[in-house]
Amino acid sequence: MLDKSAIIIGAGIGGLSCACFLAQQGIQVTVVEKNEQIGGRASILEKDGFKFDMGPSWYLMPDVFERFFGFFGRKPEDYYELIRLDPHYRIFFKDQKNVDIVADLEQNKILFEGMERGAGDALVRYLDNSKMTYELGMQKFVYKDRPRLRDYLSLDVLLNAHKISLVRSMQNHVNNYFSNKKLQQIVQYTLVFLGGSPKNTPALYNLMSHVDFNLGVYYPEGGIGRVISSIAKMGEELGVEYKLGFEVDSIEEEGGLFAVRSKNAEIIEANIVVSNADYGHTEQVLLPEDKRQFDDKYWKSRTYAPSAFLIYLGIEGEIDPLIHHNLVLPIDWEGHFEEIFTDPAWPTDPAYYICAPSDTDDSVAPKGHSNLFILVPISVDVEDEEHMRQKYRDKILADIAENVGVDLRNKIVLEEHFSVSDFARRYNSSKGTALGLAHTLKQTGPIRPDNRSRKLKGMYFTGGYTRPGIGVPMCLISGEHTAEAIIKDIKKETK
Ligand SMILES: Cc1cc2nc3c(=O)[nH]c(=O)nc-3n(C[C@H](O)[C@H](O)[C@H](O)COP(=O)(O)OP(=O)(O)OC[C@H]3O[C@@H](n4cnc5c(N)ncnc54)[C@H](O)[C@@H]3O)c2cc1C
Repeated sequence: MLDKSAIIIGAGIGGLSCACFLAQQGIQVTVVEKNEQIGGRASILEKDGFKFDMGPSWYLMPDVFERFFGFFGRKPEDYYELIRLDPHYRIFFKDQKNVDIVADLEQNKILFEGMERGAGDALVRYLDNSKMTYELGMQKFVYKDRPRLRDYLSLDVLLNAHKISLVRSMQNHVNNYFSNKKLQQIVQYTLVFLGGSPKNTPALYNLMSHVDFNLGVYYPEGGIGRVISSIAKMGEELGVEYKLGFEVDSIEEEGGLFAVRSKNAEIIEANIVVSNADYGHTEQVLLPEDKRQFDDKYWKSRTYAPSAFLIYLGIEGEIDPLIHHNLVLPIDWEGHFEEIFTDPAWPTDPAYYICAPSDTDDSVAPKGHSNLFILVPISVDVEDEEHMRQKYRDKILADIAENVGVDLRNKIVLEEHFSVSDFARRYNSSKGTALGLAHTLKQTGPIRPDNRSRKLKGMYFTGGYTRPGIGVPMCLISGEHTAEAIIKDIKKETK
């Protein structure tokens, strides 16, 4: 057992995960969180009998969750029940009829073949490549943390690295398999989960198609919020303490002891600090200048993942033809990404996602009602004043009526919005990004900010900004890697 204490700033997935791993080693862990609830970007909103997951709603990579709970001698089903969704999701094209991606590969092949001759077989080849990339990528680069470039120079890694496309873009990779633009969009849309576009994301992320088509899409009963409370409960069982409403104002260190001060001038001390708050916020606001690893120029020059305009709706009555997960894709695909990444504007022809968990789960909406969550990816560089939100909300609801075929406007009994400035305010998110740093080539692997501070001994980072990156499964793994780095350092020090 390690006789140390640690403060984790932020109760997002990375922070909660890291807390479990540290507590398991006997470290005394306190998680402090600025908001009144745990979960970070995976918070929940409960109002008038509706329960919304405010952020993540796709439970992907079930293997990662099993592995995570397995470290503690537990299983996900000790805490929540998983339901496999089939269809996985429905795609509404604005200029063509909608299609369903289902669990059965043969049916997906027929769908692809119907849209382009030869595309059925191309899908099988595409998915075989995605599967190989996923298995190799997870074993060699994701589950094993490789913080330095030299960690990639081992024979084992070099022998395997050439098999996965690091340098080519997703756009070039997909061109090799499908010519039909709609099919390209189906396999590229998952990049939005990583905060990238087909042109700025390396082809290695085609592994997302294995996740999406082969591993299956699941729903934890009660929603993602249930997963969060389960991880926090396990943490409690391991001895983790949580302090909510504790917004850290500064981190100071003297002689190996950290003092973490809240905005209300409360101070907690520990030997180790892990920040799960946004990396830029921690470095630029919480740490003294001489303990920062990166300057303002560095943070300004990063490629941030998009923000989002979120609409939470309580609906009375029918929502057909919407199912649990729905994607509405634009006609002007390239223009849509340009307005997010290169020429910031509220998207003229928006792509968006609609989640209707009440289609699967009665507990998230009152009887006879539906719970809808609409997510429109938007640039971090747009102004989101109230009049813009209202205007855009009208545009999206009109777009749904026209392109999905259900008019929600006269069925709304509850409505809430969340956008760029809310991300900045609620989570101290840099630039109001919904996700953190995009997975561009220059922000992947060892070039992503490290989980160990080079400037301050005892200071660490975890969550979506560091390796392996964005998404609930990746942040769970990030917590594991950060804990590993801490334990390794303690053992080295006490040798
Ligand atoms: C709208 C949306 C949809 C998404 N959909 C999916 C999905 O379907 N599937 C999926 O896998 N992933 C999805 N994601 C991504 C996923 O939610 C995130 O990658 C993940 O939750 C981030 O976790 P994190 O560990 O980085 O911590 P965060 O969630 O970023 O938490 C950091 C915490 O630190 C706290 N904090 C900040 N500053 C301070 C301070 N000074 N003092 C104290 N506390 C502080 C914040 O309040 C926050 O609680 C989605 C994200 C969003 C926003």
